[in-house]
Amino acid sequence: MKYEIKGGSFWLDEVADALLLYLDTVSVSANDTITCAAGMTPSCPIHFGILREIAISHFVAEELSRRGRKTRLIYYWDDFDHFCKIPWFTTREAIKDHIGKPLGKVPDFQGGYPSYGEHYMKVFEDGLKTIGIHPEYNYQSQVYASGAYLKYIRQAIEKRDVIFDIINGEKKPYDDKLLAAREAYYPLEVYCSQCQRDLVTVTGYDQESDSISYECRACGTVSSYTLNDSFFGKLMWKANWAMRWTDDIVRYESSGENQLTETGSYAVSSRIAEQVFGGQAPFSLLYRFIGIPGIAKVSRAQGEKSLSTRLTDLLEPAIIRWLFLKNSPDKPFSIDMDNGLNRMYHEWDLFMTKITDGSATAEDKRIFGLATKGVEFCRYPIPFRTVIAATGIAGGDEKKAAELLRSIHPYKDAEPDFFTKVLPRIKCTKNLSIHTE
Ligand SMILES: [Zn+2]
Repeated sequence: MKYEIKGGSFWLDEVADALLLYLDTVSVSANDTITCAAGMTPSCPIHFGILREIAISHFVAEELSRRGRKTRLIYYWDDFDHFCKIPWFTTREAIKDHIGKPLGKVPDFQGGYPSYGEHYMKVFEDGLKTIGIHPEYNYQSQVYASGAYLKYIRQAIEKRDVIFDIINGEKKPYDDKLLAAREAYYPLEVYCSQCQRDLVTVTGYDQESDSISYECRACGTVSSYTLNDSFFGKLMWKANWAMRWTDDIVRYESSGENQLTETGSYAVSSRIAEQVFGGQAPFSLLYRFIGIPGIAKVSRAQGEKSLSTRLTDLLEPAIIRWLFLKNSPDKPFSIDMDNGLNRMYHEWDLFMTKITDGSATAEDKRIFGLATKGVEFCRYPIPFRTVIAATGIAGGDEKKAAELLRSIHPYKDAEPDFFTKVLPRIKCTKNLSIHTE
């Protein structure tokens, strides 16, 4: 079921109400675990907008738990996908030999991690931890390697004509070319045993030996894999998505606009889940992307300025959570990390002051509670630029910076734990030097 927020009340209440209502209609009982999910391919340095999807799933799962339901939050890493996006810091020419390999087999071009995929997964996971989001991680490369998906791969091969029809149904009646394509179709992405790239054509499946034969268009290898034993490949994306909804009984996901169109991946995967795997698509909430002001699409040059690490380094964790809570998922919003930092801190401080001076509404208090749950935040509304100045004068020494801040008028008589209470903001100002050349 696709769901778009109607507005009027706090979005989290509306989504939880609608989701629980929907789960009743599909006979999910009060004791069943509700699995909420999000995921991505670690194919490039990760943009801060990606945080929104998992943050929404996290808050939905938390709300369901608060209402007494058992929940599970899974983050799927599509680290068995092929490498195809060229990151901004290099060129296609420099890395062309790796294009088409699974992300876990591509070296980390910047060094420091066992693979390219692992680099961006680790960095993003650290960021999620910082902002108090702790999903179960599902590394698709590991699950495939374990053989846990083999039964679904066999089902998909058996019903490959059904999958072809779901994807191409609107082109019926098929002409000769499509009929031939249907005959030759396998819903698989196979990697070559020699060059490890996915420029591979599957030429057949032999049920008796349970093996897949293929030809590599890149290096000319002609070979085969036994599914049980050596299979180096995966289901194509839309079948893969449908499979894991089925395997983990995923009940909730957040999806971008492009996925939720009539012919988008959600519609196609829903039908594959039902007709091929006997599963069901989850309740899917539409969310819109986060941008940089004035920029429709992040260009290569802007890449580094929009990294999720930049957000988690420069904003206190509670403020990041607050941005995701106060902006309803159906509304796009932008984050100006270059010129908007002071303003974001200022707005948060005004919000925090409402809580302390008693002028906050019940909803403000609830959002503040959710934003600050389990994460760090500065307890005093000291302007960010003032903290930048103090950290600068103190040469980056946190204790000295705190002492300087304490010498300012309203904080002279602050509690003895003033240092720990301002430390989260001092840390963010220290990180400024990492992100400015
Ligand atoms: Zn090859």
